[in-house]
Amino acid sequence: MADLAEIVAGHILDVPDFPSPGILFKDLTPLFADGPAFREVIDGIVAHHGAGSFDVVAGIEARGFVVAAAIAYATGLGVVPIRKAGKLPRATHSASYELEYGEAALEVHTDAFMAGERVLVVDDVLATGGTAATTLDLVERAGGTVAGFTVLLELSFLPGRERLAPREVHAVLTV
Ligand code: AMP
Repeated sequence: MADLAEIVAGHILDVPDFPSPGILFKDLTPLFADGPAFREVIDGIVAHHGAGSFDVVAGIEARGFVVAAAIAYATGLGVVPIRKAGKLPRATHSASYELEYGEAALEVHTDAFMAGERVLVVDDVLATGGTAATTLDLVERAGGTVAGFTVLLELSFLPGRERLAPREVHAVLTV
C-alpha cells in the first residue's frame, strides 16, 4: 500500500501570507483534484478507523465537507455538515470560540444525530485545535458520540493535539 503521508505531502501547496500576513496556508486542493490519490487517502482513513466503528461522518465547513462526503460514500454512511454561523436553516446547537482576532461560531442541527450515534469527525487541517474542540463539543451536545477525529494534515508546531487531549487525533500527515 502506498505511503499515505507521502501522498498527502506530495499534494500540498504552501501559500505564504494567506489569508493574512504571517500565515503559511496549506492548500490541499491538489489532493482533492487527483482522483487516484484522493481515493487512496480516503480508503486509508476508513481502514485506520475500521468500517463499522462509526455510524455517520461529520465534516467541518468547508474543506472538511469534501473529506467527509468521500468517506461517507465509501462506507455507505451519511454525512452531517458542521457549519459556520447562520448557514443551517433549522434549529441548531451553536458554539463560539476564539480566533486570533475575534470570534467565530459553528453550528449543527439539533436533530443531526440519533442518541449515541457514533460520529467520525473530519477536517482538512488541524492547527490550534479551536475549530476541532468546538466541533467535538457540538457533536456531543447534539447527542452524538465521537468515534474518532481525523485530519489530512496536522501542524505539530501548534498545540491542536494537546488541546484535544485526551481525545485521540488521527492525522494522515503530521508536519
Ligand atoms: P484551528 O482551529 O486553528 O485548528 O484551525 C483549523 C481550521 O482552519 C481548519 O478548518 C483548517 O481548514 C483551517 N486552517 C487553519 N490553519 C490553516 C493553515 N495553515 N492552512 C490551511 N488551513 C488552515
